[in-house]
Amino acid sequence: MSIKENLQQIKNTFLNHECKLIAVSKTKPVEKIMEAYRAGMRDFGENKVQEMVEKQEQMPKDIHWHMIGHLQRNKVKYIAPFVYLIHGVDSFKLLQEINKQAKKADRVIPCLLQIHIAKEETKFGFDEKELTELIEGEALKPLKNVKIEGLMGMATYTENEQTIRSEFSALRNLKTLLKNKALPENVQMNELSMGMSGDYLIAQKEGSTMVRIGSAIFGSRN
Ligand SMILES: *Cc1c(COP(=O)(O)O)cnc(C)c1O
Repeated sequence: MSIKENLQQIKNTFLNHECKLIAVSKTKPVEKIMEAYRAGMRDFGENKVQEMVEKQEQMPKDIHWHMIGHLQRNKVKYIAPFVYLIHGVDSFKLLQEINKQAKKADRVIPCLLQIHIAKEETKFGFDEKELTELIEGEALKPLKNVKIEGLMGMATYTENEQTIRSEFSALRNLKTLLKNKALPENVQMNELSMGMSGDYLIAQKEGSTMVRIGSAIFGSRN
């Protein structure tokens, strides 16, 4: 099937048509991404700074570029002028650097805080306690050039649907819990970025507002 047909098929299966689809284009060449663009896609996700910058330079300027991978602090400056949403903010130090570079670029950068929900040790992110302390404390208030729009998470890589479901459900509960607190001015809890090619339907059942889908659109990566 073509990229256009894949996109159509994915959208046809959506349980929630308000949920945003982000086409994860990492490792894919510009001509493939342009196929998705011509089919109407404007939101693309990349996980490497250099690759995102190169594609952004070559491609139409109305594309929304989403940084979905682990972001190193010393590379924030390269994407700060144009990045649309940073999904994987996994430390306060990174958030401070994003704020600094956003200020230099004279803009406010939307961010999601990445939550460590999966069992795997290697996954980056805040745990529930760290996150609650951060949100309830004073530390976020001076960061005027970032806007926290919600949370992002990845489920354990497993065939066990029940595990995936309970992890996504825990993430949704955490978002609801935080939304009911007195939040700093630059924090909102409206977005929940969860779900990939293999688990986006479970994620939508559990309240996802953004799914990040790569291989189901562009084919498998080598
Ligand atoms: C690669 C990637 C995806 C997309 O994965 P697929 O299984 O190809 O849909 C989603 N989120 C993140 C953070 C990724 O790195």
